[in-house]
Amino acid sequence: MTYFSNHQLIKKELLDKGYREYRGKEMNVYFNGEICIHAAECIRGNSAVFNPRQKPWIKVDSASAAEVKNIIDRCPSGALQYESE
Ligand code: SF4
Repeated sequence: MTYFSNHQLIKKELLDKGYREYRGKEMNVYFNGEICIHAAECIRGNSAVFNPRQKPWIKVDSASAAEVKNIIDRCPSGALQYESE
């Protein structure tokens, strides 16, 4: 039997649902393009972090973890999620 920590469980659940992982130093961000409704709330929030013209399009460490969490909390579709240790 495999045991997962809470952190691993969240990650596994999101990846199973089709989210992609974007790793940062203090937190990881998850995005599911099939759920995104392109409201651009994230891009308006901080285009250094969320910018479709850059690769990867999410640069988690380009703002503080608190700011990134704040922006993700405003995502209307649930396409963006995060977890931190
Ligand atoms: S805020 Fe959420 S729904 Fe809007 S564009 Fe960003 S990821 Fe998509």
